[in-house]
Amino acid sequence: MSIVLETKGLSKSFGGIVAVDDVSFQLKKGELLALIGPNGAGKSTCFNMLMGQLSPTAGDVYLSGERINGLRPRQIWRKGVGRTFQITATYSSMTVVENVQMALLSHHKQVFRFKPYAHRMYHADAIALLEKVGMSEQAERHCAVLAYGDLKRMELAIALAHEPVLLLMDEPTAGMAPKERVALMQLTADIVRDEQVSVLFTEHDMDVVFAHAHRIMVLNRGKLIAEGNATEIRNSPLVQEVYLGGGTLFAEEDAHA
Ligand code: ADP
Ligand code: MG
Repeated sequence: MSIVLETKGLSKSFGGIVAVDDVSFQLKKGELLALIGPNGAGKSTCFNMLMGQLSPTAGDVYLSGERINGLRPRQIWRKGVGRTFQITATYSSMTVVENVQMALLSHHKQVFRFKPYAHRMYHADAIALLEKVGMSEQAERHCAVLAYGDLKRMELAIALAHEPVLLLMDEPTAGMAPKERVALMQLTADIVRDEQVSVLFTEHDMDVVFAHAHRIMVLNRGKLIAEGNATEIRNSPLVQEVYLGGGTLFAEEDAHA
């Protein structure tokens, strides 16, 4: 069992607010791990510390055993930590396949070596990645005309172009229709299985979480309060008390739908 990501006592305070409080967890190779919790629980703050956007007030982050907190986001990304989904990371004036080619060029550190034949470079690799996400038939379309769900799938191909060992997905399905959410997470689960990549994701739709996550961690007011598989989380008295009993989680889900 190889541990790809580990946090030890990870904490972040903003002034008097303890947004993330002594969070320790491990993520295994090929694991799809969900981090859930109501708004303000500290999920995004956790992600931002893992990506190097924020430095922890206390605690450490290890990638395959190497301490990575203190590194810049770009350095962490270079070590194989990919993140989705950032619409701004795509070029809407380019075609789908060109966007993936750009990502491949960047991954192979050739982005600045523009040549007249650049449009041919990594073309076959880009098509292969698009096939993985079910987008090869849309390869020649311009990104500007893509449906939202297709744009997200293209972004997944772009993330995969960097051959990540770990993908961090903070609310990947935000703004998507329920059917599209299920499809995107199914695709993510397939990729996790086929590529043996590890994924940490947040998601408001509990059906999607329970259907796809191998393991679920529950964050409440910065603290991890539960961890387990879907059945264990559903049946956890503490989770029920904090979320289901108060009805907050479902109320927020509705607000997001
Ligand atoms: P989640 O993603 O689970 O909704 P966040 O990590 O965004 O939660 O927020 C956790 C807590 O930290 C909230 O109380 C939020 O207001 C606070 N917080 C997050 N980012 C900042 C910041 N940059 N400055 C001050 N407070 C912040
Ligand atoms: Mg958030």
